[in-house]
Amino acid sequence: MTLLNENYLNLQGSYLFAEVARRTAAFKAAHPDAQVISLGIGDVSQPLVPAVVQALKKACDEMGRAETFRGYGPYEGYDFLRSAIAKHDYQARGMDIMAEEIFVSDGAKSDVANFQELFSSDARIALQDPVYPVYLDTNVMAGRSGVFSDGQFKRIVYLPCTAENNFKPALPAKPVDLIYLCSPNNPTGSVLTREDLEKWVNWALAHKAVILFDSAYEAFIRQPDLPHSIFEIAGARKCAVEFRSFSKTAGFTGTRCAYCVVPKELQIYDKAGNAHGVHDLWLRRQSTKFNGVPYIVQRGAEAVFSSEGQAQTRVVIDHYLANAKVILSSAKAAGLQAYGGENAPYVWLKTPKGCTSWEFFDMMLNKLQVVGTPGSGFGKAGEGYFRLTAFNTPQLTQAAADRLATLK
Ligand SMILES: *Cc1c(COP(=O)(O)O)cnc(C)c1O
Repeated sequence: MTLLNENYLNLQGSYLFAEVARRTAAFKAAHPDAQVISLGIGDVSQPLVPAVVQALKKACDEMGRAETFRGYGPYEGYDFLRSAIAKHDYQARGMDIMAEEIFVSDGAKSDVANFQELFSSDARIALQDPVYPVYLDTNVMAGRSGVFSDGQFKRIVYLPCTAENNFKPALPAKPVDLIYLCSPNNPTGSVLTREDLEKWVNWALAHKAVILFDSAYEAFIRQPDLPHSIFEIAGARKCAVEFRSFSKTAGFTGTRCAYCVVPKELQIYDKAGNAHGVHDLWLRRQSTKFNGVPYIVQRGAEAVFSSEGQAQTRVVIDHYLANAKVILSSAKAAGLQAYGGENAPYVWLKTPKGCTSWEFFDMMLNKLQVVGTPGSGFGKAGEGYFRLTAFNTPQLTQAAADRLATLK
C-alpha cells in the first residue's frame, strides 16, 4: 500500500476559478444570446510586442544552424539576460544588485512556490489576507500550515488587508520566519510605499526573518515616489528575496520567463546557529531540479530591455492602466467603494452592504453579464469584496464598464 503525502489532503480545494467558470457556463447555457464579458481573467490579452517577436525569431534561426545551436544553458540563466536585468531593473534605478544575484526561471509562480523548500518544515509563515493562493498552498503541501478550521489554518499568521487598514498589512503580533508580501498587490491592487517597506525590512532584520517579495506587477507603477523593488530599501539585501516576471510586464504568460533576485548577503541558520547563504542554497536547489529556460525565450526576454522593447511594452501597460481607470470610474459612478486600479491592473470593489462576494458575483452575472472574481476566494478577509481585472481588450473593458455604471 503506497501512502500519500497527507499534507495534500489538507489543501482547501481551489474551487474559486472552477466555480466561477461553472456559474458562467450555466448562465450562458440558459441565456445563449447574452454577451457575457469577463473582467475576471488574470491573463493578458495583448500580443507580444514586435521587438520581442523579432528577437524570438532570430534566436529560432540560431538554433537551426550548427554554428549557433545551443543545448543545455546555465541553470541560472544566460549572462546576457542576467546582466540586462541587473542593469535595467536595478543598477539604473540606483540599486546594487549584481548579475550573479539574478536567477532566471520559467515563472514567478514556480519560484514563489519552490522557494519555501529552503526553509525548515516548521518555519512560521505570515501571509497577507486576501492573498495570491500559491504562497499558502505550497506551504500547506510542505506541512507548515497546521489544521484548517473556521476558514483558516492554525499555524499560518494571517495579515488582514481591508479597507479599514487601507489594505496595508500590520506587522505580525507573534514571531514569524517567512513573510510573503505582494506589491502592487494581487488581488487588492494596493501598493506599499517606501515607508511601509522600511517598516517591514526593519522588522525582518530585527527578527532575523526573511521577506519573499513578489513584485510581478512593478511595471504598472506610474506614481514616481512608489518603490518598484524591496531593494530600494536599505537593509533589504540582508533580509529579502524578490520575484519578478515577464508575464504581466511583457505578455509572457504563455512564453514563460521570470526571475528572482537572491542577494549574496542573505543568510539563514541551522539548528546550531551557523549561518548559510541563501544564494548558494538556491543555486544548489535550481541546479538539482531545474534545467533552465529555453535560449529562444531568454533572447525574447532580453529584447524587453532594448529601447524599442521598453517603449513598446510601456504602450501595452498603458492600455491596461487605461482599462483599470475606466473600470474604477464606472464603479465609483455606480456608487460602489472601489480601490486599487491606479498603479496596478486590479480594481477591488467593496460589495454593497449585506451582500457577500458570491451574491455580488451572481448579481453582476445576471444583471450585467459581467464576470469578476469573488474576493472571498482569496481568503477570509476578502469576503465582502470583488476583483475586476484590467486585462481584457479596451473595447470589451469599456463595454463592461458602461454596464457597471448603470448599476445605480
Ligand atoms: C501573475 C502573477 C505572477 C506571475 O506568474 P508567472 O508564473 O511568472 O506567470 C506572480 N505573482 C503574482 C501575484 C501574479 O499575479
